[in-house]
Parts: sequence; C-alpha cells; structure tokens
Amino acid sequence: MKTLALFVSVSVLSCAALLSGTIQTPQVEPADIVFKNANVYTANDAQPKAEAIAIKYGRIVFVGSNADAKKYESKKSANVRDLKGATVVPGMADAHYHFSGVGFREMNLNLEGTVSLDDFLAKVKARVDKAKPGEWITGRGWIETFWKPQAFPTRWDLDKIAPANPVFLTRADGHGAVVNSVALQLAKIDKNTESPFGGEIMQDKQRGEPNGMLLDRAQALVSRNIPSATKAEFEQALLLADKRSTSLGWTQVQDAGVGWDQIELVKKLYGEQKLKIRLYEAIRGPGADAQRLLREGAQIGLYDGKLTIRTIKVSIDGALGSKGAALLDNYADHDTNGFLTFKEEQVVPMLEEALKKTIQVETHAIGDRANRTILDWYETAFNDVPMILRMDRNPPRWRIEHAQILSPTDIPRFAKLGVIPSMQPSHAIGDLHFAPSRLGMKRLEGAYAWQTLIKSGVVIAGGSDAPVERGEPMIEFYAAVARKDQKGFSGEGWHPEEKVTREQALKMFTTWASYAAFEEKQRGTIEPNKWADLTILSADIMQIPEAEILKTKCVMTVIGGEIVFDAIGKK
Ligand SMILES: [Zn+2]
Repeated sequence: MKTLALFVSVSVLSCAALLSGTIQTPQVEPADIVFKNANVYTANDAQPKAEAIAIKYGRIVFVGSNADAKKYESKKSANVRDLKGATVVPGMADAHYHFSGVGFREMNLNLEGTVSLDDFLAKVKARVDKAKPGEWITGRGWIETFWKPQAFPTRWDLDKIAPANPVFLTRADGHGAVVNSVALQLAKIDKNTESPFGGEIMQDKQRGEPNGMLLDRAQALVSRNIPSATKAEFEQALLLADKRSTSLGWTQVQDAGVGWDQIELVKKLYGEQKLKIRLYEAIRGPGADAQRLLREGAQIGLYDGKLTIRTIKVSIDGALGSKGAALLDNYADHDTNGFLTFKEEQVVPMLEEALKKTIQVETHAIGDRANRTILDWYETAFNDVPMILRMDRNPPRWRIEHAQILSPTDIPRFAKLGVIPSMQPSHAIGDLHFAPSRLGMKRLEGAYAWQTLIKSGVVIAGGSDAPVERGEPMIEFYAAVARKDQKGFSGEGWHPEEKVTREQALKMFTTWASYAAFEEKQRGTIEPNKWADLTILSADIMQIPEAEILKTKCVMTVIGGEIVFDAIGKK
C-alpha cells in the first residue's frame, strides 16, 4: 500500500515538471566562452558545419547555430567572442614532431627559409657578431635545394664570417652539417682523417681537404665538442617550442622519441602551468629508456589530459636524401641499398613485452625494405603473444612513422595488421626534387602512397617531423592536397592521384591523428563533450584556391577551453 502511494506522488511530481517545461525553455548553464559568427568545420560527419561553439570547464557543450548558442551567453560569466566569419577547425595535431628540437632551432639560430648562400651567411654573421670569442655558434634548418648554384656551403664560406668561433650548422633534415675550420681543428679533423662507419667527411676534390660538410655519423666527430645544453637552456627551448607551436595552431604534438630527462622537465613546466600545448610522448628504444617505460607502465592523461607517455619509438633505417633508407633493391643512383639499424633479436623481444603491457610502438621506416621488415616483426609479435597474455585485448594501434617507400604488396598489410601509417606530407613535396633519381620511376608507385593507403582501409596520422621540416600546419595541409612543392611544381611521374581531398587532409591532422594517440573520444572533432581544442584560421582552407592555403595564418588557438594564442584581439 505504502509503495503504491509513493509511486503515485512521484508520478504527479514528474507530470508537473513536464508541464512547466513546455511553458518555459529549459535553462542551460551559461558557458565559460561562446564563439559565434564562425565558419566551423567540425570534422564530425554527423554535423559537418556550424556557426557557434560553447565551452564550459574546458569541454565543448554546444555546437550549432548562432541563434541556438544564445542560451549559453550570460552577461555575468560568458565570454562571447565574435569571430567575424573566421574559419574554425578541430584543434590541429601533429602526429610526428620533435618538440625540443623545434625549441632549440628557435633558441640557437633558425636557418629555415634561407634563399641563397649569401642570405645564409648574412644570418650566420649576425649571430657571430653577437657572440663572445670562442663561443659555439650552432643552428639548424638550412637547405640548399633552391640555392643557385645548388651546392652545399663550405668551411671556407663560413671562415670568411666566423674566423674565431667554432660553427656547427645542421642541414634541415638532420643528416648533414656544415662546420668551419675552427670546429674542424677542435675535432682534429684533417685530410688524413678517415670517415667513420655510417658517415662521411666530405672532401674538396681539388684541394684534397675536408670541405666542412659532415654527413650522418661523421657529424658526431664535431658535435661531441659542443657543450650540452644546461637544464635552464633545455627548459627555455621547451617554452620556445610551446610558444611557436601554439601560435601556428597546433594544439597537440606527438613527440617522436625522447628521454626521461625531457619528461621530467615537461612535468615540472606543466606543474607550473607554463606549458599550454598537449604532448604525447614516445620514449626512445630499444634500450634502458624503453625498459623503464615497460617497467613503470604508461602514464595517460596527466595534467588535465595535457601529457601522455605510452609509446616506444624505434628507428630502423636512415633517410632517403642521404641514401640511408633501407631499400629492397639498390638505389637507382648509387651502388648500395641502404642499411637497417637494428637486428631482429634486438627489437622483437621488446615488441612482445610492449604488447603484453599495452605499450604502443612506433617505428621510423623510410625504405621499402625497412617497412617490410618492421611489418614482419610486428606480425611476429602479434602471433607470438596471444590475447590471453595481453593486459588489453583491444587493437594495439602500433604505428610506422614515415612509411615512405612501400612495395605495393606490403600496402594491404597495414589494414590487415591494424598498423597505422604516420606520414608527413611536406616530406613528399621536398623529396620530389630528388626521390625520382634515387628510386627510379617504377618504385615511385609505392612512394608517399597516401590515397592508396586510405583506400586500403587505414587512417593516416599526419605530421611534419619538425624541425626536419618547418612544422607548420598550413604547409602540411597544402602539401597533402596539392602534392606539389610550394611553388606549385611537381615532376613527371609524381603520382598526383595519391594526393588527398581537403576533408581527408583535415582528418589526417585532427581525428586520425587523435586515433593514433587513442584519443578519438576526447578530441579530433568539434562536438559536445570533447575537449575544447580549436584552431582558428584567417581563411577558409576547405574552399580557397590551393596556393592561398600557404598564405593562411592561424589567428587563434584554443586548448582545453583556454585561449593560448590570440591574434584577433578582444573587441
Ligand atoms: Zn622524426
């Protein structure tokens, strides 16, 4: 009897609530911030476009029309920003980045975009003029591809502007450096010094002397004399990287191979609320650093989801430019087929342990032999470790970084094994100037094969590999959709059919990058309940002519509901 009475009174109450609800619009809590009058691309297929976004407690609470967003505005608490038609996309993520490298490039001498030898020397001279005698001058980012003549700088060029300071300037790809005579003398390198294994001390043929260019492992002969960065310098580099990355529109970068010293510093800076960007860290392996991650386990979503450490980064070959990429057949322009940097027994036991312990693995593989080898090793690990031995039975989402040159027979193996290709569009538009001569026309069929991979049933995580490349979202987006260099050039046989659509390119740097980090439920699209990560742009990159994509700027970056970069200014 009592039970029945209670039931009746509850029903009466809910009826009353329902009735009042039909008279009054239900109240919503005011948002912390409302963006309106925006051209929103959500990357969410269920609701692709919108005008307004409301954010509360760092998450998106509303996506829709300006009119419907009104109810989230409140004079008291809502910060309403009129975006005046600016384009908003989900917070862009770079799936392959070297965060501290970007910072050190800023801190030392950033030589990106030098257009000629004279320009390069002028930039270096300005730095030398400010240096104390004997102080090292280090820098990175030059590339001679567009200089006339297209030739490496030499020690003698540098000696003219830096007679008293040792100079070490890394080429953009990190596989070569030019040094001056002071640096060579400190390293005791002369015409009789033999090139080390895996590297070359280049010589001037006429003079019979080292010309200052050091390739691959020869760089260490000089770089080991450069005093290593202090903790304070390391910290400064991380802060510079944060500033540069967020101001370009990156809301997360996935760091491809770091040590625990960097993790410690990053944690300190997050604790002090000095780092704004989200970092997804891969620890270098195989070796002691990777073993520590396997022992201690992944650390996921620290500092309000800003920091995750759950991946091991392995590198199993070199790069195409310096002929270190491991190919199945010889280079078309060289009597060698590159080299693998690890043996199976050094890597596979670590892979199997990672699989048991739910640690993700990502492996640098450029050449077709390197890609086939790592697919084989992944497959061996998957077969050797049955589900019953795994802590997590979901797909492990292992990745191959670069996946540049693939034998067509290996392409379907990515989907079959659940391996994610993590690729850098800017590599393709830089490499198009030398890849055809390195590889010959036939092998270009499986090179940078974005569309074929997507059609095979995988997602591609998009990245820049900065500071190997410049690390700018608009360059990457352009490269993915144009598949031409920044001047609009693309050589014969460069397979334009492998370019991607703008929708696909957007996904590479949003949802698909978040999938590669197990975060597709948290970010990657603009929809309610996701983290409020937004990249706001000066132009509509989904519509404007291709060449204008390169002129597009990030005007605002929002991470977890916080405006971390604002070039619009409050109105
Ligand atoms: Zn890299």
